[in-house]
Amino acid sequence: MKSFVPYPEDSDFPIENLPYGVFSTKKDPSHRIGVAIGDQILDLKAIRHLFAGPHLKDKQHVFEEPVLNSFMGLSPAAWKEARETIQTLLSSENRVLQDDAELRNRALVPQSDGEMHLPAIIGDYTDFYSSINHATNVGIMFRGRENALLPNWKHLPVGYHGRASSIVVSGTPIRRPNGQTCPVEGAAPVFGPCRLMDFELEMAFFVGGPPTKLGEPIPVNEAQDHIFGMVLMNDWSARDIQKWEYQPLGPFLAKNLGTTISPWVVTLLALEPFKVDNLPQDPKPFPYLQHNDKFNFDIKLEIFITPEGGTPHKISQTNYKEMYWTAKQQLAHHTITGCNVNPGDLMASGTISGTVANSYGSLLELGWKGTNPVELPGGTYRKFLVDGDEVTLKGHCEGKGYRVGFGSCTGKLLPALDLQ
Ligand code: MN
Repeated sequence: MKSFVPYPEDSDFPIENLPYGVFSTKKDPSHRIGVAIGDQILDLKAIRHLFAGPHLKDKQHVFEEPVLNSFMGLSPAAWKEARETIQTLLSSENRVLQDDAELRNRALVPQSDGEMHLPAIIGDYTDFYSSINHATNVGIMFRGRENALLPNWKHLPVGYHGRASSIVVSGTPIRRPNGQTCPVEGAAPVFGPCRLMDFELEMAFFVGGPPTKLGEPIPVNEAQDHIFGMVLMNDWSARDIQKWEYQPLGPFLAKNLGTTISPWVVTLLALEPFKVDNLPQDPKPFPYLQHNDKFNFDIKLEIFITPEGGTPHKISQTNYKEMYWTAKQQLAHHTITGCNVNPGDLMASGTISGTVANSYGSLLELGWKGTNPVELPGGTYRKFLVDGDEVTLKGHCEGKGYRVGFGSCTGKLLPALDLQ
């Protein structure tokens, strides 16, 4: 496959990828839906009349909207038709855009001229805890090696209902929160800026398909039809606030200070060639969580820290294929009670950690609770983040002669407000 839009072999956005996002430009500040191709954005609003297949010819209005929810709310058949239409229009063999300079110039916008926005209105957001290495590491740190995994962990995908209003798009600065912590166990709590600020490397999927009805679970074997695509996610975490507040109801203010996602939603259709075996599950889960097909993905992930005034330094690399519970199992479990979901809902993986020390997905683990600080160039160390640090997550799948990339998910940590 070759596109008439030129790009290098290591571009995150070749014609095999075609992720969806929402952008605006200085010239036209309205939010609109686009697809990344090389270093360009294809404006779908400008070419909506070209979606003429059976599933989209009466649904072209979804490309006039300022968010992806309506498009996400269509069927997998419509998503496939959209992808094939865009792939054809961008192909070097197709003349429609190549021969129409006026339309082509209107429809192709340099990414450097575009400002990216949240891709969808996120009605509900859930964060799982599905990487076995991460859950084990945290368990060892807080409960010891013998009781690392709690008794429920291998029976169900543990998760919590998170906060949707504070999810922001890559590039948005995040402020260190103030809150209650209890630095000395057994002593009185104190109020002030968080001192143990952390990131969590995660991926998240957007729910697609029509809204489901309250009372009707999504069977695990239909779950794929309700997964539109994936983004990178940084679940910024205030560890000291978390430690004091989390019992008995789980994460609360430690997690609602900001959650960053990458702007381009990479579809399941683009990820299909990168499916790999699921991790073996022992004990066997209940039937409502069982599926026999592969639904794990070989997505290489990296974490960089850029100190104030410095250059990016890679501190970890891992892979999405480390997930113990698959996204299909997460969705089947989430809805087994009859909990309804809507297109644009976001469901995150939980921190993704590999098996070795430089493959962990949080500073908590990389620095092992502050006992083994991470070295940065110039002889500085990080137990946890310092003000001015920028955290960047990257991810891509390696194809033959091309890569399907996620772009980056980045955010800079600002100093806390002075509330003392
Ligand atoms: Mn998390």
